[in-house]
Amino acid sequence: MKHLCKLLYLITLLLLTGCTTKLPIIAVQLSDDDGNNRAPVTPQEIEHWVNRANTSWKGSGYKFTFDPDKDIIQVSSTVLNSKPDDAANPQWELYRLTGNYLASLLPRHQIPVLFRQRGQTGWSGGPGHSNFISMPSYSNTCIKKQTGGACRGGCCPDDTLLAHQLGHYLGLVHTNTNVPCDKVKAEIADGDRQGWFANNKEDDIRDTAPDPGANCAPTTSADCDTGKVKIKNGNSFRPPWRNVMSAHNCLPEQISGDQEDAVEWVLENNPWRQQIGND
Ligand SMILES: [Zn+2]
Repeated sequence: MKHLCKLLYLITLLLLTGCTTKLPIIAVQLSDDDGNNRAPVTPQEIEHWVNRANTSWKGSGYKFTFDPDKDIIQVSSTVLNSKPDDAANPQWELYRLTGNYLASLLPRHQIPVLFRQRGQTGWSGGPGHSNFISMPSYSNTCIKKQTGGACRGGCCPDDTLLAHQLGHYLGLVHTNTNVPCDKVKAEIADGDRQGWFANNKEDDIRDTAPDPGANCAPTTSADCDTGKVKIKNGNSFRPPWRNVMSAHNCLPEQISGDQEDAVEWVLENNPWRQQIGND
């Protein structure tokens, strides 16, 4: 019996490891053109972010890998060392194209994650648009909800920021649209009604609940598990509070089955993403 158990244990272990796809990350620590203003992020903080991403993506069949001794390089670029606020900024296209150019010089089997000195938010465009993830430094993030890290002056480090940006990089959109709070109703509260970049049924997400967004239904407005919330216009929602692609801050995060399928589709079909993990 003991031998049988041992055998079953080994087979289970083999099946589990065999079914996991590794997605390696290369971290780029940025500074300005003259080498000053280096992003104050440490290899340990990046490793922490990667570990937290694996917690959010648990059960998805994907494991992000990062070796803090090997998988970090330093690049000088004033353009990339600060992120314009949004696409309306005239500098935006220069920023995006410079990031794509840098990504084209890096090994294709790793996901490029750029850490900059200036700007708080994370960002990534999806397949066909951008080939890099843009992150602030760990100490330069601020969310209002306790996530287990050390909080200062009402600011907690955003531990799940990389988990979310990896979702964008691999083709996932937000669970919500940006419909104004007085107009949002269930039928139009799905961020992925028709799929995103590939825009076909393989990349569609049908299994996340309608989400009016964090501005209409703040995380604090209902309990993370049972949370039904009535928003100002009278409509009720039970948003996917824990979903990695929502802006709600409920932990632990989750990824849905359709989201896993969409990522699989992107990894199999997008010419750039196809090469991740194939070294
Ligand atoms: Zn996002």
